[in-house]
Amino acid sequence: MFIDIKEIGREGKSMSGELALSPLNWQDEEADVSKVAYNLFAEKSERGILLSGLMDATVSLRCSRCSELYPLLLHVPFSLTLVEECRERNEGDHQLNEDKTDYFPLKEGKADLNEVLAEQIYLNIPLKPLCSSQCKGLCARCGENLNRGRCGCFDGSQP
Ligand SMILES: [Zn+2]
Ligand SMILES: [Zn+2]
Repeated sequence: MFIDIKEIGREGKSMSGELALSPLNWQDEEADVSKVAYNLFAEKSERGILLSGLMDATVSLRCSRCSELYPLLLHVPFSLTLVEECRERNEGDHQLNEDKTDYFPLKEGKADLNEVLAEQIYLNIPLKPLCSSQCKGLCARCGENLNRGRCGCFDGSQP
């Protein structure tokens, strides 16, 4: 779905719904994304379009401790400005680059909502995903997933 600057009047425009996103590239793997829902409001601002609201999504991530896939539920409030990409504005001008996450480029007056939401997901994925804060990880000796039970390697050393 595209957000078109021409379709946003003075009173702004609400947008809500669900969409399908292609899997994200995350740590050399494809992470499936499902149940993407958004509830947004777009309005004209000085620099472009101010887009704010909420996104929910479920991302299938690999736990950094036990290596199992688990669903991460994201509930992301965000707000950013869609700005027209300007070709003359490159390395020399850092004005718009002070905080990249607050801007998203418009291409010929349009922004792909899929790309906007995919970026918000990237920004909200933890660097070291954990299936649970209590994840016991893998046995350092035999590699068994300790969430599924004890492997016997260190029997007696831990209660
Ligand atoms: Zn885990
Ligand atoms: Zn073991």
